[in-house]
Amino acid sequence: KRAAYTELKDKEPVTKDGTRITLNINAGLRDDMGMLNLTGADGIGLFRTEFQFLVAAKMPGRSGQLRFYRDVLDAAGDKPVIFRTVDIGGDKPLPYFQASEVKEENPAMGWRALRIGLERDALMKVQARSLIEAAAGRKLNVMFPMIAEPWEFDEAKAVFEKQLEFLRSRKKQVPLSIRYGAMLEVPALAECLDQMASRLDFLSIGTNDLTQFLFAADRSNPKLAERFDWLSPAILRFIGRVSRQADDLGIELSVCGEMGGRPLDALALLGLGIKRLSITPASVGPIKAMVRSLDLTAVKNHLQTLLSDPPSDPRTALRQWAKQQHI
Ligand code: PEP
Ligand code: MG
Repeated sequence: KRAAYTELKDKEPVTKDGTRITLNINAGLRDDMGMLNLTGADGIGLFRTEFQFLVAAKMPGRSGQLRFYRDVLDAAGDKPVIFRTVDIGGDKPLPYFQASEVKEENPAMGWRALRIGLERDALMKVQARSLIEAAAGRKLNVMFPMIAEPWEFDEAKAVFEKQLEFLRSRKKQVPLSIRYGAMLEVPALAECLDQMASRLDFLSIGTNDLTQFLFAADRSNPKLAERFDWLSPAILRFIGRVSRQADDLGIELSVCGEMGGRPLDALALLGLGIKRLSITPASVGPIKAMVRSLDLTAVKNHLQTLLSDPPSDPRTALRQWAKQQHI
């Protein structure tokens, strides 16, 4: 099977009825960049910049970050990279950074990610400046995690725009363009898509956090791992609604959580109208094989039927249907 996946490397992820699906990969370390060519992925849909902070002994400074982001962009060549600003705190504490003074009972819902970045804005300024300088003369894509309301996006974007202005005023070379996006992982943001449409260049659903918040079930607690299924009607209906709204509002939408890396789950996502996935590199082969074997119209119709009167075990039902369809 592995050999078959390798053969697929240079083949396009196109469905039998002709829809080109974008298959990006998730990354976070310099070593991950080789995976772009190895898998034939379209780009990096989620670059978790906090990995660089997590493996360091002290807070990475501007020159270290600049060098790192430049290396990443060099390695990506013409392929796009979406840099997510740091998602530290919560379950990813930094030993050298005193995040919250209060002991957090629920770190996943605590002082993490952009919530830290906006308050300790030196952290964000340094990252913004490094990313902008690293992408001088190239295109830069920036994505903010844990956005719940439009003002958070506005403040985060303003940090970048201010650095951009500063560099321009110093006659420094700046990126050709900067695209700003948000992760949809806090359910509240789904209720603000109309307000976000004019602000966003793209939106990416992070299914890992989104599902933990939808089900109020800690994603790192093994006792809860079996409690709900990613193919439950609540999740599929939620994502389906976001996907329809994004279409209507002209928002470029993708999914970058782990759900997109599992063939049956990814099949459901495509059936809900998702056309861009960012997945773990090892999943590119299996997902591409799945994409190339399916009739997207049939999958969309089937998802609609499935969700209009959900069976008690949607996973088994979908698996059986996919088998009948030779997917
Ligand atoms: C997610 O929450 O789905 C996601 C992609 O980000 P992370 O797993 O890094 O929180
Ligand atoms: Mg997340």
